[in-house]
Amino acid sequence: MDFGFLRGKKNKDPDGNKSKKKNVAITHNVINGLISYAKMHHPYEGILILEGERKKMEILINNLVIPPFSEHGPFYSGFPINELPFDLKYLGTAHSHPSGTSQPSLEDLNHFYGLISIIICHPYDEEDIHAYDSQGREVPLERRI
Ligand SMILES: [Zn+2]
Repeated sequence: MDFGFLRGKKNKDPDGNKSKKKNVAITHNVINGLISYAKMHHPYEGILILEGERKKMEILINNLVIPPFSEHGPFYSGFPINELPFDLKYLGTAHSHPSGTSQPSLEDLNHFYGLISIIICHPYDEEDIHAYDSQGREVPLERRI
């Protein structure tokens, strides 16, 4: 007898259905802008909109926009997403974590906007900048001039 059916389907190509990852790049100006904005709002959270270009295999974050009607608090920063004009240049948001944790909170994932979410945590150095996708998975950021 053949019990092959009990083993289930063999995945011959485990990497085959891996979704094509886009490269995410960020300019030096944006990094500096994030750092000074986060420091300016400390001990409150600050939030910014990430603007840039999406190409076939790459997302380039090259500008920051201060969101309209933003509110700042020690544990939550946000803005009504439906107040935002629909704009293809908007790639996502960045916000600070004065608590020092680099992980996105449940709230962050529930309020995910766009393609990418950047978190900059205290003490707001360059290595405190982390990027996440909508699933909360960390995405490497490539530095650009
Ligand atoms: Zn957060």
